[in-house]
Amino acid sequence: MRKNFLAVFFSAAIIFSSCALGEAPAEKTVFAMDTYMKLTAYGSNGAEAISASEEKISELEKLWSVTDEKSEIYSVNHGGGKPVPVSNDTAELLSLSFEISEMTDGALDCTMYPILKEWGFTTGEYKIPDDEKIAKLLENTGYENIDFDGVNITLPADFQIDLGAVGKGFTGDMVSQIMRENGVTSALLDLGGNIQTVGNKPDGTPWKIGLRNPFGDGLFGVLELSDKAAVTSGGYERYFVGEDGETYWHILDPETGKPARSGIISATAVGKSGGVCDALSTSLFVMGLEKSEEFWKRHGNQIDFEMVLVTEDGGIFITEGLEESFTPNGDFSASEVGVIRK
Ligand code: ADP
Ligand code: MG
Repeated sequence: MRKNFLAVFFSAAIIFSSCALGEAPAEKTVFAMDTYMKLTAYGSNGAEAISASEEKISELEKLWSVTDEKSEIYSVNHGGGKPVPVSNDTAELLSLSFEISEMTDGALDCTMYPILKEWGFTTGEYKIPDDEKIAKLLENTGYENIDFDGVNITLPADFQIDLGAVGKGFTGDMVSQIMRENGVTSALLDLGGNIQTVGNKPDGTPWKIGLRNPFGDGLFGVLELSDKAAVTSGGYERYFVGEDGETYWHILDPETGKPARSGIISATAVGKSGGVCDALSTSLFVMGLEKSEEFWKRHGNQIDFEMVLVTEDGGIFITEGLEESFTPNGDFSASEVGVIRK
């Protein structure tokens, strides 16, 4: 079977996949964690790896759902100030989330959930809360008020968390591990715009990942990746336009309780770990260009990550590790790309 060009378009990214005269891959689209996930695996164990992955995804979704009364996060959020024990997977995700919160000075903060609800981002019934309401809700936020000993988590009463900013990326890590354990050496995992690549394309060349133009149709750039994750947070993913004509999106600045207006409209983190990249993409979006640059210079050796940032005025910035793998695309083909160096 010949597939010349297969373009898949989900929330944040577009993937090109071409396989010349090779075997057809095993493919499956799963709806989980509020998004469509498309898993593509090449090789003889692809189908098995995909069904094992599906099971894992559904297991993780059941742990982290904020609305399912049987989920661990639901129990954590309704613990009434008492310690709640969590499973290993949840513990690992919480540790990652808190670690990045510390490193980013709280740009990432899983306690924003009650404020996200107030804005309607959890239901789609959007509204602009008044400042007093936000100020009141901000009194019950701040990840530093949470007690977590690696097994038990204790939230102060009236606190609620959601792991929406990190869960999909972490799931990508789990799924790519399952792929490898099943002997799959070439796979493309699109978890609602969180991209995780296993190995190269079957023809031995890197995967090409398109980054969605935050201002309109098409792409602003293409990344060539192997064995890496690319996770994008964008102001165009979930948003509404208020009666005041302003656009309000689903990533909040934990300092203000309002949509983060840092000057960045799209932030992509690239690295080995999807979980880390997911945590960082949200953080970079909140921090803005200058702080993100400082953060990368300070932590870029310790955490494996590179970034692609697009500013609201259309500027594209990449870190030097992506110089060979990033190409501007479409309307941006002739754009000058700023390279951030150590
Ligand atoms: P997406 O999930 O749309 O790909 P993100 O990874 O950036 O994008 O996660 C956004 C989600 O994270 C929001 O829908 C919300 O649940 C949660 N969230 C919003 N702002 C923050 C924040 N500052 N820190 C942690 N979580 C946040
Ligand atoms: Mg994220």
